[in-house]
Order: sequence, then structure tokens, then C-alpha cells
Amino acid sequence: MAVRLHDCSATVFGPRVHSWQCNRHGVIERDGKWYCRQHDPEAIKNRRDESNQQWRNKQRRDDAIETEGKRLARRLGLKATTYWHHGSTLSKSGPSRALVIDFDELAKWAENHKRLSEVE
Ligand SMILES: [Zn+2]
Repeated sequence: MAVRLHDCSATVFGPRVHSWQCNRHGVIERDGKWYCRQHDPEAIKNRRDESNQQWRNKQRRDDAIETEGKRLARRLGLKATTYWHHGSTLSKSGPSRALVIDFDELAKWAENHKRLSEVE
């Protein structure tokens, strides 16, 4: 039985203005066009959905940590009303009574107190 080889249909955008057709063989057919594994529109969509989901999970974790940070600040009697994320730290705005909490340290603290279990 003869094996028919198809070229991948994707156009690859290189640096600057150059673009060319992908030189890998097509292994999957979508709507009459062939694509290699990397350029399979379904696979691209799945990868994007997965990265969106990871982003949402991270956002949810950050929100939970921020909530914990505010709660902890209140407990410590700090007048912390506004926070911002900077790198992996959570900081209180304002010139005095600055509160800087390392996200990883706070996450460890929160996990030790089993407070993240509510959002998992
Ligand atoms: Zn391709």
C-alpha cells in the first residue's frame, strides 16, 4: 500500500517580514487541509485552553493569597487597604507601615493553616 505524504498547510512567520510554509509533513487533516502535529488547529486550541486554565488557576491562587494577606494584615493591626502585586510579593501602598509579604512564604503559611483548601 502506497503512503501518501501531505505537506503541512501552516504558514510560519519568521523574524522580520519573512514567512514560509511549514516544511513538516501533514499528519492530520482538518477541513480539507493537512497540518503537522505542531500546527494542527485543534492542538493549538487545546494548548491555548490549557494555558488559559493555568492562568485562571494562578489568578485564583493569587486572589486567595491576597485575601489571606489582607486578613493577616488586619490581624496584625496594619491599616492596609490597598495592595499591589509586584513580582512575587504583595505590598501595601503608602509611605508608612509598609507591608511586604513574599508570595511563596505566604502560600506556605496559608497551606500550613489549611486555608487554601477552601479554593482548591
Ligand atoms: Zn506545520
